[in-house]
Amino acid sequence: ATPTALMVGTGRGAKMGILIKNGEVLEEVNDVKTVVMDKTGTITNGKPEVTDIIGNEKQVLSIAASLEESSEHPLATAIMDKAKVENVQANTATDFSAVEGKGVTALVDNQKAFVGNDKMLSDVKIDSELQDKMVQLQNEAKTVVFVGVDDKIIGLIAIQDAPKATSKEAIATLKARGLRTVMLTGDNQRVAEAIAKEVGIDEVIADVLPGDKADHVQALQKDGKVAFVGDGINDAPALTMADVGIAMGSGTDIAIESGGIVLMKNDLRDVAKALELSRKTFNRIK
Ligand code: ADP
Ligand code: MG
Repeated sequence: ATPTALMVGTGRGAKMGILIKNGEVLEEVNDVKTVVMDKTGTITNGKPEVTDIIGNEKQVLSIAASLEESSEHPLATAIMDKAKVENVQANTATDFSAVEGKGVTALVDNQKAFVGNDKMLSDVKIDSELQDKMVQLQNEAKTVVFVGVDDKIIGLIAIQDAPKATSKEAIATLKARGLRTVMLTGDNQRVAEAIAKEVGIDEVIADVLPGDKADHVQALQKDGKVAFVGDGINDAPALTMADVGIAMGSGTDIAIESGGIVLMKNDLRDVAKALELSRKTFNRIK
């Protein structure tokens, strides 16, 4: 009867677009206390769009596009899309380098240029007007990147990634089941809090470097079993560390490989459904 219950459970899941990859995760599900979620692509659509450009728009966009042409980050895609729409040409960049959790640098027209967040600005001063603008945009849930040339900021670009239409309902359901909900993201604290407020998540851990996500999951495991939901390359170690790793089907291959459960519809509401289905299946096996 045991393997039959497992087959029925996984078969039922598959029909709903919930793939239970290994039966082992079922055992953990009963005791999950905390659901930790990545932001970009998990809670949000993962399709960021440029909303504001401060500074000389064409110049700021041209420098940014020259750098981001070599990056595969979702923010880079947003900037390249905007450059295309605005008919702004990218110049050749050399010595490109991506700085984890911060941004990108390269030489453009023999000048050192960068695009990135405020952690990129150790030696560069932001004037108070630009600082105020940054705070205002971040409070609107927009990610702000600065564009600089030769250690001087020439402008900033604000990029918005809206929550998925179903995320708010998904969080409400998890909370109604008594689960603790946490957002874990590499993005800025203010942006993360603004998104968390929109969807009803109570706890936010922001400004997390990609390599540190798994450590945060481990720390949360002191309070009970943890399910982690994510989609990115940088989510793979956290998906592995968690008691239950849940990957979005739209995610990167490495995230999907690392998750014990895969949500093919990329709908955050399926987290509660997957937990429920696993619980039922496991209790039937027992
Ligand atoms: P996440 O996937 O959670 O957004 P990342 O570690 O990929 O986290 O990025 C964290 C932050 O680093 C971004 O919000 C952005 O401020 C900055 N950043 C990373 N890559 C780039 C890039 N290619 N261009 C501009 N900023 C970047
Ligand atoms: Mg993500």
